[in-house]
Amino acid sequence: MKEKAPKQPENQLSIEEMATFCKRKGFVYQNSEIYGSLAGFFDFGPLGVELKNNIKQHWWKTFVQSRDDIVGIDGSIITHPAVWKASGHVDSFTDILVECNKCKARHRADHLIEDKLGINTTGMSLDDLAKILKESPIKCPKCGNAALGEPKAFNLMFTTNIGPIETENSRAYLRPETAQVIFTDFRLVQENARLKLPFGIAQIGKAYRNEISPRDFLFRMREFEQMEIEYFTHPDSVNECPYLDEVLNHEIQILSEDMQKHNKEHVKMSIREALQKKIIKTTWHAYWLAKSHKWFTSLGAKLDNFRIRQHIPTELSHYALETWDLEYKFPFGWKELQGVANRTDYDLQQHIKHSGKDLSLFDEATKRKIIPHVVCEPSQGVERAFLVFMFDAYTYNPERDNIVLKLHPALAPFKVAVFPLVSNKDELVKKAKEVHDNLKPYFASFYDDSGSIGRRYARQDESGTPYCITIDFDTLNNDTVTIRDRDSTEQHRIKIKELRHKLEQLLSKETHFSDLKD
Ligand code: ATP
Repeated sequence: MKEKAPKQPENQLSIEEMATFCKRKGFVYQNSEIYGSLAGFFDFGPLGVELKNNIKQHWWKTFVQSRDDIVGIDGSIITHPAVWKASGHVDSFTDILVECNKCKARHRADHLIEDKLGINTTGMSLDDLAKILKESPIKCPKCGNAALGEPKAFNLMFTTNIGPIETENSRAYLRPETAQVIFTDFRLVQENARLKLPFGIAQIGKAYRNEISPRDFLFRMREFEQMEIEYFTHPDSVNECPYLDEVLNHEIQILSEDMQKHNKEHVKMSIREALQKKIIKTTWHAYWLAKSHKWFTSLGAKLDNFRIRQHIPTELSHYALETWDLEYKFPFGWKELQGVANRTDYDLQQHIKHSGKDLSLFDEATKRKIIPHVVCEPSQGVERAFLVFMFDAYTYNPERDNIVLKLHPALAPFKVAVFPLVSNKDELVKKAKEVHDNLKPYFASFYDDSGSIGRRYARQDESGTPYCITIDFDTLNNDTVTIRDRDSTEQHRIKIKELRHKLEQLLSKETHFSDLKD
């Protein structure tokens, strides 16, 4: 089924239309669809796995490999259950659910209230939600029954069992976040990598949450991936970010706690101004929020589709002193894309208490033991980033009457596609395959000889391939090919022997396509 493309290029797709497009093109499928699917679980198809890997690789390159102050780890998904007791997840990693007394469908209370009554439930407690439901009873969205049960806390951690015998003691959890492994490995990593404060430890990996009602396609899943950094600072210098100059002039839309209290809209301002006005309180927070925003926009996401929003006090997690979310304007509203929390020394202190191990560092300057503070924890969901890049790349071109996925070349699943002009001429097919084979070691290249050349271009436009190369009859005479730009459809002729070099320049944006001369 062809998804309904928006009539105007600037119209954003709905999340359902995006899901349909992703399935049709082989980006994302519902998991185990042949068995009726499993809510909250998705598989990434041939194009999707490439895009997802490119996002993760680019993030890792930017935030780990290009920096001297951050190193990475890859921790286990199942860890000692005591970790989750110490972190507070066993006791308080909950959402509030309400169950229909008739059909037994379970709903997330805050979502139900927001959807049906239009009330913003940010930061509301169980009692607040229960009061609203009592005063304005809501019918079960599944069966229409008016009698919903009492709201109650539901722990989001998936449990599993370790070993052959299932007992209370063999219970373990699938990690609901990647952060805790960083804390439990903290001392080893610091020693091995000989890190000096301030420093960060990063990780990309799966996380699992038994969401009460997974929804909005990849936005709220039960199995997803996180790209996280725990950034540790000296407890006496939690506000001294040496890299601040890099971001002071960066402008971003800001919605502070105070603006929310007074029902105001977000305001665009520079990081310098936000710090001067004490809207953002710590330099580290300002730095990491700006860095994340810059990372997205450097990869083609649209500047003004982002804002940062401060958590209001009742919304803060049990461990957080101050939290800002980087939010994105999804078709279903402004929503969290990345959480950036100041976790203080909460986690290290908890693990010291529960494990009995010394996780302090020795401070040479003051000759005393210190517990570093995680003044910032940028925590990004890979799939939410995936959605951002897809939404901001998706355009409908009325003149061409086709979809053009304007993905940044660094993220595009294929960098180049190679076609023979026609498929019934052996010399053209042979030459096209030769060009494709020669490019493959250097670029993700796609070969296609089926259908008209126009249809092949259109298919690549929809897949986000920045450049298409066509081998025609002139190629056989003079060893030149046409190269076509996805976004402008402009074409130039270049020599085959220059292809690799020119593509490198184009993909790294050193050369603009229109600068290629025939
Ligand atoms: P939300 O309020 O949307 O449930 P959260 O505040 O619980 O998110 P965090 O615990 O801060 O999320 O997790 C960090 C990041 O992990 C989020 O910003 C998001 O990008 C991603 N993430 C969290 N839960 C999910 C989920 N169920 N599906 C997809 N991504 C998720």
